[in-house]
Amino acid sequence: MSLAPAAPPDAPLVRIRGLQKRFGFHTVLDGIDLDVRRGEVTVLLGPSGSGKSTLLRCINHLEKPDAGFTEVGGEIIGYRRDNRRLRELPDREVTRQRSRIGMVFQQFNLFPHRTALENILEGQLAAGVPRKEAAARGSELLERVGLGGRESSYPRQMSGGQQQRVAIARALAVRPELMLFDEPTSALDPEMVGEVLAVMKDLAETGMTMIVVTHEIGFAREVADQVVFLDDGRIVESGAPADVLTAPRHDRARAFLSAVL
Ligand code: ADP
Ligand code: MG
Repeated sequence: MSLAPAAPPDAPLVRIRGLQKRFGFHTVLDGIDLDVRRGEVTVLLGPSGSGKSTLLRCINHLEKPDAGFTEVGGEIIGYRRDNRRLRELPDREVTRQRSRIGMVFQQFNLFPHRTALENILEGQLAAGVPRKEAAARGSELLERVGLGGRESSYPRQMSGGQQQRVAIARALAVRPELMLFDEPTSALDPEMVGEVLAVMKDLAETGMTMIVVTHEIGFAREVADQVVFLDDGRIVESGAPADVLTAPRHDRARAFLSAVL
C-alpha cells in the first residue's frame, strides 16, 4: 500500500530531488535533480569517480542518501512522508519497493553453482511465486534474451555475453517497472558487447523505463531519450542525445566525449 498521493498519469516515473551523498568528507553526489519519464531511456555518462554508480545505488536504496530523495511511481524509495518530514521505512517495505526496480551490474553476479533457470527463479520464489509458474516465466525470459533452451546451462558453460543476458532475464523476472544498468558491457570481450546492447535495445522498444550507465556512445545516440552527463557529483549537462552528444556545452563533457568516441 502506498501512502503517497496518486501521481498524475503523465508524471515522470522517476523523480530525483536534491539528492546528496557523502562518504566521510567526500561529497560524491551534490544535489542531483533528475526526471525520467515512463517508457524512456536515460543514459548516464561521466568520468570514472563522478558518482554514476552511487547515483544508481541511491535510487534503489542500496546507499542511503544524506539529503534529498528518489521517487518511483509516486513512492519515495526508503521513506514515507509524515507531514512534511521523511521517515525511514522498515526493511520489509524497502524490499517490496526494490522489487519494482531491476538492476544489472558490470559483473553479472550469477550464482556459479546454479543453472541459468535456477538463477532466474531465485527472486520469484523469494517473492512467493509458485515454482511451476516461476519456471515457465523463466523459460520465457531466456527466450526473450535469445537463450531459449539454455535453462540447464551453468554460468561457466556460457560466454560473458550470455551470462549477462541471463542476468538481465533475472532482473526482469519480478516484473520491475524500472531497470538500472551499471556499465553492463564494460566487463565483456568486445565481440559480446553487441548482443547485450541488442537485448537492451529490445527491452527499450517494449517500453521499459531504463537508466543506463554506459560508455557506449552509439547506444546512447540510438536508444536514449535523454543523456545526462555527470561530473564530480553534479549534472553538468543533460538533454536529447543529438544535442548533448553532438554539441556539448560543458568543457568536461566535451573532453570526455572526445576521449570515448
Ligand atoms: P563512478 O561510478 O562514476 O565511477 P562511483 O559512484 O563509483 O563513481 O564513485 C564516486 C566516488 O565515490 C569515488 O570517488 C569513489 O571512490 C567514492 N565511493 C564510492 N563508494 C564508496 C564507498 N562505499 N565508500 C567510500 N567512498 C566511495
Ligand atoms: Mg561506476
